[in-house]
Amino acid sequence: MKSKKIKLLMVLLTIAALAVIFIAVIFPGIRDRESTVGTASLPAAASHAMGERRTYTFDQLAGMSTGYLLLVNYTHPTPAELTGNLVRAADRVAVSPVNPNVLILESALDALVEMFAYAASERNFMSFRVSEGFRTEERQRDLWDNAANQALVAYPGHSEHQMGLAADISYAGVNIGNSAQGSWLMANAYRFGFILRYPAHKTEITNVPFEPWHYRFVGQPHAFFMMRNDLVLEEYIQLLQREGALNINLVGIDYRIVHIPGGGYVEIPEGYVFTASLDNTGGVIVTMWRSS
Ligand SMILES: [Zn+2]
Repeated sequence: MKSKKIKLLMVLLTIAALAVIFIAVIFPGIRDRESTVGTASLPAAASHAMGERRTYTFDQLAGMSTGYLLLVNYTHPTPAELTGNLVRAADRVAVSPVNPNVLILESALDALVEMFAYAASERNFMSFRVSEGFRTEERQRDLWDNAANQALVAYPGHSEHQMGLAADISYAGVNIGNSAQGSWLMANAYRFGFILRYPAHKTEITNVPFEPWHYRFVGQPHAFFMMRNDLVLEEYIQLLQREGALNINLVGIDYRIVHIPGGGYVEIPEGYVFTASLDNTGGVIVTMWRSS
């Protein structure tokens, strides 16, 4: 009897020791790895400072929209106005020689700079390039009119490139489909706030064939949530409309994401920072967060 009890005690102690090792060593390891990358993709610059509990109307939120979550597709045209500064990509990242003056929104470029630096340090992938960024509607029309395959070109007025939040990415001048670099990007882009916008298994939802090169900036924690739950932007916005709110904890930050329909309002609890983005379906999505 006694030796059985001792054995049981030993087993319990071993389990407890292993649990402590897991929590102390492995778990912080995961957290550190996650927190060292992608955190600068937090829209801190555009955020609104903490303070007391405040109420914001739909119109006030629309007025501060970052545009990061605007849905643009064949049924949702590109909004008329840009939501940030267009900057020259070549000043900070490698670009394709066929498009040396490519422009992109500054927030998306900040994230690309980080992502390419991480690819270089983690995998020695030094030659990612941006081949497309912002396009005017005129340029989109030209591409459409002259496309060999119009399925791969968005109808003018319906391209994410017209928002400046999409980047077509190549590697050393080569299409990244089926390459190690393409796979790396697919697995890691979310860390920097990007999503693969047209995955192969979602073509019925996006109505666009697989485009391994086309990445869309949405920011955090949206990119993280979409990646983990295998959602494209159409599905994510539908989910938010249906659920009204989502809570996400990511690298020690508590996020609360709230969908506000037209005419609605939101209350920001004390101690939270927030940003807002119109969704181009009549709602505005508020992202609020605080350290947990
Ligand atoms: Zn594209």
